[in-house]
Amino acid sequence: MKSHKKQTILDSLMRYATSLGYGQIHTKIDKKTGLQAFVAIHSTTRGPAIGGCRCVPYHSAANALEDALRLGYMMSYKAAISNLPHGGAKAVLMKPAEIKDRKAYFESYGDFVNELGGRYITAVDSGTDAPDMDVVATRTSFVTCTSSGLDNDPSLVTAIGVKRGIEAAVKFKLNRASVEGIRVAIQGAGHVGYYLAKEMHALGAKIMMTDINPQLLKRCVEEFDAEICRPDEIYQVKADVFAPCALGAVLNLSTIGALQVSIVAGSANNQLAHYRYSSLLQERGILYAPDFLINAGGLIHVAAMYAHKTTEESHAQISNIYETAYDVFERAAKENVDPNAIAIRIARERITEPRP
Ligand code: NAD
Repeated sequence: MKSHKKQTILDSLMRYATSLGYGQIHTKIDKKTGLQAFVAIHSTTRGPAIGGCRCVPYHSAANALEDALRLGYMMSYKAAISNLPHGGAKAVLMKPAEIKDRKAYFESYGDFVNELGGRYITAVDSGTDAPDMDVVATRTSFVTCTSSGLDNDPSLVTAIGVKRGIEAAVKFKLNRASVEGIRVAIQGAGHVGYYLAKEMHALGAKIMMTDINPQLLKRCVEEFDAEICRPDEIYQVKADVFAPCALGAVLNLSTIGALQVSIVAGSANNQLAHYRYSSLLQERGILYAPDFLINAGGLIHVAAMYAHKTTEESHAQISNIYETAYDVFERAAKENVDPNAIAIRIARERITEPRP
């Protein structure tokens, strides 16, 4: 007779972590400072795992751990497809109602990172900033994004990488060497969306934008002569490129069916509501630039900072997103599969095989 054991949330999280190919999960609880932290290390096969540390409120420890798992494995894929000598990880700090002594809080976090012995390199993310990393740096050397690092805004370098991905897609799909005159529909006028509009406008592209925040759109109209549409209209806009730069899971059965573009290429993480939906875009003749490939500019920059590279070296690596994306498009066309499947395959192969 089959025994039906009751599955707890912890069982589900362990199954989730196993299915994603983790790795290690570390926890620290420090009653004195209020620190409650998880570090989810996906992989160290290619080198020390790198990834941001977010400090935001969570409903429960299970939510926090799930977030760390969901975000950490994607860092491995970004690092691998970008050929960085790193695995991926994410730190999640369950922000208390009040952090009484922020210095002591991040010193405690720094001790935690140090105890991991270099398996994890920490960086900024939502809710943390360079001054926090300065405090962490007083306790460990396995930290980057401190005030003395390269001074580029991560959103700007992410947008530059997305621009390179769009340029590669435009060359491959439309056989045009420049984006001049190309119509780009950008969803989200936040940090990355704004910089992407700026970069594309400077190259002569025509910008169409949407956001739920009218103030953000106003400056894009003024600065880039952007056309504006309602948030629900962006999926039907006639354009060459749709660039999701707001939310995840925006590419679902309904939106994919509505799109009137040749290319989808944007910064948002996990744009596909299901990873297999990239094949639906392929069936519709729409070229999909894998999100984790073209939005890796921020991670490339962070890794460059840790390796004490110059801004020029970092930018050259980010610029190389063009070549990586173009290579993926070519391989996908040759094998008659969608680019996302190819990019995932390349990343997985690199994650499982140690670097030569
Ligand atoms: P952001 O919060 O600054 O901007 C997101 C914008 O989307 C906001 O202006 C918000 O008002 C808008 N928005 C929310 N819901 C919307 C909707 N339904 N329709 C239209 N607009 C809507 O975030 P960001 O830093 O610009 O990042 C954008 C995306 O790129 C996110 O998915 C993020 O995970 C991803 N990403 C960002 C970076 C980075 O360096 N910032 C790096 C990699 C990936």
